[in-house]
Amino acid sequence: HARRIEGIDKNIWVELTQLAADYKAVNLGQGFPDFSPPSFVQEAFCKALNEGFSMHQYTRAFGHPNLVKILAKFFSRIVGREIDPMEDILVSVGAYQALFCTFQALIDEGDEVIIVEPFFDYLFALSKQLKGCGPVLSSADWVLSPEELASKFSPRTKAIVINTPNNPLGKVYKRKELQMIAELCIKHDVICISDEVYEWLTYDGTKHVKIASLPGMWERTVTIGSAGKTFSATGWKVGWAMGSEHILKHLKTVHQNSVYHCATAAQEAVAVGFQREYDVFGTEESYFHQLPIHLHEKRLRLADCLKSVGLKPILPQGGYFMIADISNLNVDLTDPSTKDEPYDYRFVKWLIKEKGLATIPVSAFYSPEHRNEFQKYIRFCFVKEDSTLQAAEDILRQWS
Ligand code: PMP
Ligand code: GLN
Repeated sequence: HARRIEGIDKNIWVELTQLAADYKAVNLGQGFPDFSPPSFVQEAFCKALNEGFSMHQYTRAFGHPNLVKILAKFFSRIVGREIDPMEDILVSVGAYQALFCTFQALIDEGDEVIIVEPFFDYLFALSKQLKGCGPVLSSADWVLSPEELASKFSPRTKAIVINTPNNPLGKVYKRKELQMIAELCIKHDVICISDEVYEWLTYDGTKHVKIASLPGMWERTVTIGSAGKTFSATGWKVGWAMGSEHILKHLKTVHQNSVYHCATAAQEAVAVGFQREYDVFGTEESYFHQLPIHLHEKRLRLADCLKSVGLKPILPQGGYFMIADISNLNVDLTDPSTKDEPYDYRFVKWLIKEKGLATIPVSAFYSPEHRNEFQKYIRFCFVKEDSTLQAAEDILRQWS
């Protein structure tokens, strides 16, 4: 095998999704809705499939024209500048591939990337694939320390990655925090990779701010989005990267030489979905307005349940997930097959095997250096049918 794949062979999603399936567990683990996407995008997908040959064939490499046009129109209004559909957008196979193209295109061996912990685990695997390019990690506190963050920038720093709303914590960066990050990026001439796949999902009046909309940042930001999260259709694997043409052209080079493009009909359906959302934006009809209201209830319900069984949930301001402190629970984890694993991994496996409930260990979102400090949290996904949440509640209540 190639050396670049060393140390990234284990994957939490592959492992735990299989374990959850093997034990037929109630699944609050992997982040996907167990309800259907809104009917307007489902219908658009079916319609696309019946529209003759073209939806079954190749489309433009960097994004189906209908999709890049509406993404540009939609986000021009949000970012407050004219986005060029053909130059400033790359449609990818999910946000995963947008991140892959960004790293491959912009980060060289020997470059440093600052990744704020906790982070979506894939980022660590991406940086490991680039030999000699170690991620420099900032503090794991829930609030970014400006001093500590500033101290991580060096002449070798090429990029910083932020994720707002954050997976797994649910932190939504405030404008002031983003301004602080933006100033550092400008001062050190660093690119900002902003993963905003949960951008529409904020709660309790929290507002999502795009760092690309701050002064001086459009030119140096790659914003990553996902139709999977936007329209509750994670299996469609449509995502995008958006940013200035002088950066995006390099991502396109990676894309055209790897997957070339993603499924045409799925892109067409996402285009129809965005056109519909463009037309109803800001009204109560908008899915981007309705989904967070719907999820807010589920989030409160899960938090109440976790509290009532002695767990300490941290209420997220955004996203799909809630983490909870499990240190209050005394569980006898004697399964010898997991004895060398971090506490939260052992706990999560015990919970699947013995109680039939799947969650995710939070230490998976930390670098090996900091993993030990974060072994007492597990992550729950609340983007689930009420019946699924009820089944999880029944399990938690029975055992506690
Ligand atoms: N970024 C974050 C923060 C995520 O949680 C995920 C997984 N949903 C992705 C990127 C990948 O998204 P996609 O499913 O569109 O590839
Ligand atoms: N991003 C999703 C999560 O955090 C799942 C990613 C995956 O399954 N590879 O749950």
